Amino acid sequence: MTGSYNLWLVFLSYVVATLASYTALDLAGRANRADSARAKQWLLGGASAMALGIWSMHFTGMLAYRLPVAMNYDPTLTAFSFVMAIVPAAVSLRLIQRDHSYRRISFGALLLGSGVVGMHYTGMAAMQMEAGITYRPLLVAASVVIAYAASGAALTIFTALRRRSAHLKALRAVAAFVMGLAVTGMHYTGMAAARFQSMSMGGQGGINENWLALLVIVGTVCLLGVGLLTSTYDLRLETQTAKLVKSLAHANEELSFLAKHDTLTQLANRAGLLERLQAQQDQTALSLLFLDLDGFKKINDVYGHDVGDVVLATTARRLQGQIRTHDMAARLGGDEFVLLLEEIDKEGLSRFCERIIEAVEQPIDFAGQALRLSVSIGVTVHKGNSSERAEMLTCADTAMYKAKENGGGKYRFYEPSMQIGTREELQLLQELRSALDENKFELHYQPKCAVGNGGIIGVEALLRWRRNGLALVPPDQFIPQAEKAGLIVPIGYWVLNEACRQLAEWREQGRRLHMAVNLSALQLLDPQLVDRVESLLRTYDLRPGTLILELTESTAMQNSEVCIAILRRLEALGVGIAIDDFGTGYSNLLQLKRMPATELKIDRAFVRELVESNEDTAIITAIVALGKTLSLSIVAEGVETSAQKKQLEELGCSSLQGYLLGRPMPAKQLEEQMGLPVKGISKSRRLSGVFRTQTALVG
Ligand code: C2E
Ligand code: CA
Ligand code: CA
Repeated sequence: MTGSYNLWLVFLSYVVATLASYTALDLAGRANRADSARAKQWLLGGASAMALGIWSMHFTGMLAYRLPVAMNYDPTLTAFSFVMAIVPAAVSLRLIQRDHSYRRISFGALLLGSGVVGMHYTGMAAMQMEAGITYRPLLVAASVVIAYAASGAALTIFTALRRRSAHLKALRAVAAFVMGLAVTGMHYTGMAAARFQSMSMGGQGGINENWLALLVIVGTVCLLGVGLLTSTYDLRLETQTAKLVKSLAHANEELSFLAKHDTLTQLANRAGLLERLQAQQDQTALSLLFLDLDGFKKINDVYGHDVGDVVLATTARRLQGQIRTHDMAARLGGDEFVLLLEEIDKEGLSRFCERIIEAVEQPIDFAGQALRLSVSIGVTVHKGNSSERAEMLTCADTAMYKAKENGGGKYRFYEPSMQIGTREELQLLQELRSALDENKFELHYQPKCAVGNGGIIGVEALLRWRRNGLALVPPDQFIPQAEKAGLIVPIGYWVLNEACRQLAEWREQGRRLHMAVNLSALQLLDPQLVDRVESLLRTYDLRPGTLILELTESTAMQNSEVCIAILRRLEALGVGIAIDDFGTGYSNLLQLKRMPATELKIDRAFVRELVESNEDTAIITAIVALGKTLSLSIVAEGVETSAQKKQLEELGCSSLQGYLLGRPMPAKQLEEQMGLPVKGISKSRRLSGVFRTQTALVG
């Protein structure tokens, strides 16, 4: 008895086999790049696709073969034939996953081939028809050889594929065509080996072959489709993650360049200068010139910031023009510049200073006006002793002040006798010391607003000093001195206590706010800090999350091991930690990742030029992306215009702070601005309690 083939179905069986091979290669290929838990899933997926493909190819092939007798399938044997395909496929793919040796590939091919053969002949045995089957041994042997050879080829291609990343899709398609050919080849050789003899073998109670074939084909194509879709979707996710990582790395580079350079003048900034000072060989002699423009503040006040910027940029260019390539010019901020020279001859230095003074004093032409400034210079010479190197900056700074005292436009060499503080400085420190006892400090509070509805979500406490009972001195004018004298520690504890007290008072009024308090480096390193914070939280019965401690980026990153340990203890208390002035310091993404921070505050320098500068937009975008990956909330500082506000909201900041939303102000004034409090739980509960007793009395 002979049958005939329906060529369409033969072709379909080949398509199924090829599609299955492609899916299997795709899924198993994903296993190489995934972590081990997911690798197993991808591998199992690949094996299932392969087995499903071989299996349904077999049944499609059977459907293509028309015998002049009715045919059904035995369900148990049919299911068993599927198991025969999937187990060896999974084991063999697993075998060659890590180890690509020929031994492994051969062993894998043996397994996979046996699976294919086993599957085919079990599937044949599952047929229930009115015909008997005998086999031609030679062709059976040929089908077995084809199965092994095809499996070997498939596994070899598979291992070769993972090494090649270019043209991966095309190569995988070629491999799939070969495998499809091999699987179908084996099947049809196997079929050619079979001789069907007309005799009844029963044929009742099985599954009708047409239905089975339809079920198998539709099911297979659907499943393979789902597999491929899942894989593509996952790949896209992976590519997106890779892109994000790349853009973060780029942002990191940008930040670290920025961290060492001044955007306005392109000179090195303080961080860049300190790095150079530290990197200098111990033996090399160095001179450091500290320059400060005389009368710059006036120009800024009278003509505005734009003119001030032109003056700074021009001065920077002139300084750069006076130094040699191995010297360094830096801008420390404001109108302070530093020159670092490898020249130590005192006479040479004197001549150099005179040249600089002359160069800076050249009028600057701005819109038809000639602006004139002079410069004061302090010079310190250092002859190769590293312990003094860190002090060079302070020494030159001191000498510069002396030069300025003498009327400006002069230079002075540093002398140790200058170190004894000036009379004003001593006076200031004395007054600062007594200010604590005399209750001369106060806190102002600047609102921090949520983007969107703009509601006040918290405040930052900013210190003020009512000096001589009259003028209110801003922190920039006394905190640096207080830090130098170590006074910042007791002052800082006063600030913390007062801020917590105020927070508790507001909570009693039913206002839900959080309070940010600034900490300086010295405070962070104070051994009592964590205990004091804990006891304050207890004394005022505050929820720890409502207190946020702000550290500038450079404080947080310096001495990082010690700082991280302290920050972790604070984190354990539950208080928030914000990295202040972010973007101006040394940040390094890895370090930032280890920092238990909850918030990043973008420095206002970036916000200031936001609307005009693409560069600042890019930086803020990068910081926001960075913050999001580290699950930090992003606060933008120094928001002064609604254009800035709009743009910052669009860039994805979580909250905003700045003069536009509210200046720092005394507590009473802030309360007026906020209006009546939204009733807090404690108060409303108390009120409803009163109400209940009254109604009870009435009733
Ligand atoms: P900061 O922590 O960066 O605080 C923000 C400063 O920016 C405040 O200056 C605030 O008045 C100002 N500011 C806020 N919005 C705007 C704006 O829209 N435009 C501009 N141009 N400025 C804005 P303030 O109060 O003079 O404080 C200066 C710095 O002094 C603070 O900078 C902080 O580092 C330090 N400081 C303040 N209070 C304390 C304190 O209690 N302890 C310590 N250690 N440092 C403090
Ligand atoms: Ca701050
Ligand atoms: Ca800040």
